[in-house]
This record gives sequence, structure tokens and C-alpha cells, in this order.
Amino acid sequence: MGKILEIAELGHPVLRERASEVENLEDEGVQNFIDNLIATGAEANGVGIAAPQVYESKRIFIISSRPNVRYPKAPEMEPTAIINPSILSFSEEKEKDWEGCLSIPGIRGLVPRHRTIKVKYLARDGKEVEREFSDFIARIFQHELDHLNGIVFLDRIDSNKELVTEKEYQKLISRSLDNE
Ligand code: ZN
Repeated sequence: MGKILEIAELGHPVLRERASEVENLEDEGVQNFIDNLIATGAEANGVGIAAPQVYESKRIFIISSRPNVRYPKAPEMEPTAIINPSILSFSEEKEKDWEGCLSIPGIRGLVPRHRTIKVKYLARDGKEVEREFSDFIARIFQHELDHLNGIVFLDRIDSNKELVTEKEYQKLISRSLDNE
């Protein structure tokens, strides 16, 4: 199984660079790296993690959505490696929801994202995939793709007033879960 890698935090320049395309997917080192990225995201209770977040400036990220303490309402999705991704089209409609980031511990923000996106990427076996994602998974995809372009969710918020600490966020969501 994969090994746990160290997570880069805001302030490290790797999070502000454009990551480079992956050209050697069949390489054993790249495949091992994907396993390590999956293991690191799972260990940290992330629903997504991008290679720059472990100091590797490569266009790879993982989506592994499942309910956990950080995201109690996340849908189930097997850990999926997304390589050299691009967004082909998106809905004009945007939606704001809470996001956090393993590289920005302790802070959550309300981030506007396109509700539906059509995307293209390579799977870890090298096959080209075209898919449509919506809602929470589309949100993860946009957040992680931003990481490959040196962008973090703080750059996307409308107002600093829509930032909260993890402690206050936990209170907020436990209140909203009580109301359901
Ligand atoms: Zn992030």
C-alpha cells in the first residue's frame, strides 16, 4: 500500500506554481506516487488531494469522496486518479458551499464553483476519459484543478467575511445537520 507523504502548507512556493504535465504514466515511480497520494489523502480525511500538496509539481490529483469527520455529507466515490485534466465546458450556474484544504489547516471558506462541469483527463492506466460531474464532486474537481495552477480556495472567495475557523465551522454544520 501507499506511504504517507508530508503535506505542504500555504506559504510554500510549490502551492503557487503551475504544475507540469505527466508524460510517463507507465513509469513505476509515477504509479507508486499515485498510491502514496491516495494513502496520504485518506490518512488526512481529505476528499481530494493534489500532487503539489505533497511537494510534487505534477498534474495529478485524487478524488476520493466519502463521508468523514471533515465532510459528513460527502457522497461515496472510489479513490480516482485524475491526470493532465482539463475542463471542456461548464454550467454558467455557480453555487457557493464550504471548502477546506489540507494545505490550509483550520480555515473554511464559502467558495463559488460551477455546478456542473464536463472534463477530460487521463486515468492511471493511460486511457483518456471524458465525464460530467456535478455538485460536490464537481466542486472537488475544480478545487484540485486549481492546485495544479497555483491557485488556492482563498483566491476564489467573494469576501473575507466568508471565512471561518474549523471550530466555528464544526458548530455551523452540526447545527445545520440538526435541522434536517
Ligand atoms: Zn486544497
